[in-house]
Amino acid sequence: MHYGVRGPGITALCYHARPRIEPDPIMTSQAVSVTPDLFERLKEIVGPAGYRDGDDIEPKNYQDLMEDRAIRPPLLLRPASTGEVSAILALCHAAGQPVAPQGGMTGLVSGAAPLENEICLSLERMNKVVELDPYTSTMTVEAGVPLQIIQEQADAEGLLFPLDLGARGSCTIGGNLSTNAGGNRVIRYGMTRELVVGLEAVLADGTVIDNLHKLRKNNTGYDIKQLFIGSEGTLGIITRAVLKLFPRPASQAVAMCGMGTFRQVADLLVHAQARLGANLSAFEVLWQNTYQLVDAHVPHASVPLPDSHAFYVLAESMGSDEATDGELFLDMLDEASRKDLIEEVVVADSPGKIKKLWTVRDAAAEIAPGVGYLHTYDVSLNVADMGYFGEEVERRLREKWPEAILGLFGHIGDGNLHIVINVGPDTRSLHLQLDEVIYGLIRELHGSVSAEHGIGIMKRPFLPYSRSRNEIELMRNLKQSLDPRGILNPGRIFT
Ligand code: ZN
Repeated sequence: MHYGVRGPGITALCYHARPRIEPDPIMTSQAVSVTPDLFERLKEIVGPAGYRDGDDIEPKNYQDLMEDRAIRPPLLLRPASTGEVSAILALCHAAGQPVAPQGGMTGLVSGAAPLENEICLSLERMNKVVELDPYTSTMTVEAGVPLQIIQEQADAEGLLFPLDLGARGSCTIGGNLSTNAGGNRVIRYGMTRELVVGLEAVLADGTVIDNLHKLRKNNTGYDIKQLFIGSEGTLGIITRAVLKLFPRPASQAVAMCGMGTFRQVADLLVHAQARLGANLSAFEVLWQNTYQLVDAHVPHASVPLPDSHAFYVLAESMGSDEATDGELFLDMLDEASRKDLIEEVVVADSPGKIKKLWTVRDAAAEIAPGVGYLHTYDVSLNVADMGYFGEEVERRLREKWPEAILGLFGHIGDGNLHIVINVGPDTRSLHLQLDEVIYGLIRELHGSVSAEHGIGIMKRPFLPYSRSRNEIELMRNLKQSLDPRGILNPGRIFT
């Protein structure tokens, strides 16, 4: 049913299967006449430790998680400073040499792996935490620092950097910023773009844009840093950032609730937000189809409730008062039960049990080995439309593929849904038909074809489903203005 409940955004954990897609027909950047002289001059900028070429370039530097292409670049540059990035881009700009910037190569939209003729620029040697300032609650970092290092250094000071996602050990903050990553705690702390105070980036022609300050309030004209965040390396290369830190929470409480209708799910979200306020740190939902797939195919996840409910909500509270937060959480659940929002609930009362409930949620991304290849989606919708979306996706899929295996789950508090689909042995080759079903419905409901993964090359054909012609034209104008020769990550987001 399509009904009119509206709720603000929420999120918790990110689980991503690894779909494989067919090669895109447009795989080649603009043709360039590369002179050996250019490469020699680039190597001189970074010195012997700062480049690799030929067989010395490892697959990790030209293959991303999607594994849909593996084109070894002629040169991999590993600059050690902003000055070196600037000098590299100035030369490439003059020569019209396309550059694929890269972080940890964990993106899910085929954006970072190089195309033909592109050289790679990895930020992996710019991996220093520059400063942690407890008075402004900020950390200044270079772009190549792994996310997990940032989390650990904040934690050591009793602070929290709240961005969290499954790839935390291998992704880097530069990649997180360039893709505006979402992840585990968006409901409470926002997307990556909300976690940044200052930024330094290098434009295509080598110009350094120094916006690296710690001022939380700074209304001095355009917020330039936001141009670079989420633009997938197409407008500039982010080299350093000042990140926001938060107090580390002192309490954690988690429950899993079974419910019969999506209306109850949406009403529970509103109720939990009203009762818990900022303490609500996760509101994750598994549709029954996903819960049953987890139960059947992920042995290490032991489901805590019978599989007869239509929806399962994992709700989490994190706060600063251990003594009262747990009680507030239980009161919230108790009231929800009395209002008939919940049919059945299990509350974790120890760290071990909290982990077990999260394991069930995490397992939504681990059903592929049991089921077979799953084509995976990351979309956004108004929470009010999600119940209808789930029913309608199933109806449209089964019209064409009656035996389709379908799973829905996601960060429902943020309006972010993941969908996994198998329609039989031909699933991989049918992906464009599946895309039309999912993205067609997203377009009808004015949702977004990408909630937290970006556009890259994989979702490029569907950008107009979520953005207007005028918006895309403005994006092109910005690109033309900042990168007139089109050398930065060409062909990503749009052609
Ligand atoms: Zn996710």
